[in-house]
Amino acid sequence: MRTYSTREVKVYHAPIAAEACPALVLNADYRPLSYYPLSLWSWQDAIKAVFLDRVNIVSEYDRVVRSPSFEFRLPSVVSLKTYVKPSRTPAFTRFNVFLRDRFMCQYCGSPEDLTFDHVTPRSKGGHTTWDNVVTACSPCNLRKGGALPREAHMYPSHKPARPTVSQLHTNGRLFPPNYLHESWQDYLYWDTELDP
Ligand SMILES: [Zn+2]
Repeated sequence: MRTYSTREVKVYHAPIAAEACPALVLNADYRPLSYYPLSLWSWQDAIKAVFLDRVNIVSEYDRVVRSPSFEFRLPSVVSLKTYVKPSRTPAFTRFNVFLRDRFMCQYCGSPEDLTFDHVTPRSKGGHTTWDNVVTACSPCNLRKGGALPREAHMYPSHKPARPTVSQLHTNGRLFPPNYLHESWQDYLYWDTELDP
């Protein structure tokens, strides 16, 4: 499987609209508050936090917003003044299920047309949980329908389970986000080992 370096990822250098200027939020130790999803705030939330004295500005966009009483460069990276203990369990989100399964159908390996499959169908009592939901392409999802794996003779290639944060980090280095501001790169170590 191919890995990407930050240099290959599209990075914004040009001035962009204020609406598209999210701030990367770092914990007080200068690591992202969360990777999955990447901790981003809208510029409005970032500025509010600056005025409430909850964050330090680490880096700024070139973009300036003005009001009659002040002029402000939009923060591109902020760090919390108070350390927040990071969650050790990843959120159960669509993106994180895809990331756990490395964006591959767990029945045929296809990376195309991905959706989700309940291994034990909901109609047969299956729950929407880490250990019952897998990434599946639409054709496999359709083929399996409401059948159990043994009825459809379709078994996921990996037994689904809740991933650890470090498993998602490992997979995340293969699939960096497609928006990275240049000022974020010092804080996102997609290329290198992350500490557990
Ligand atoms: Zn498939």
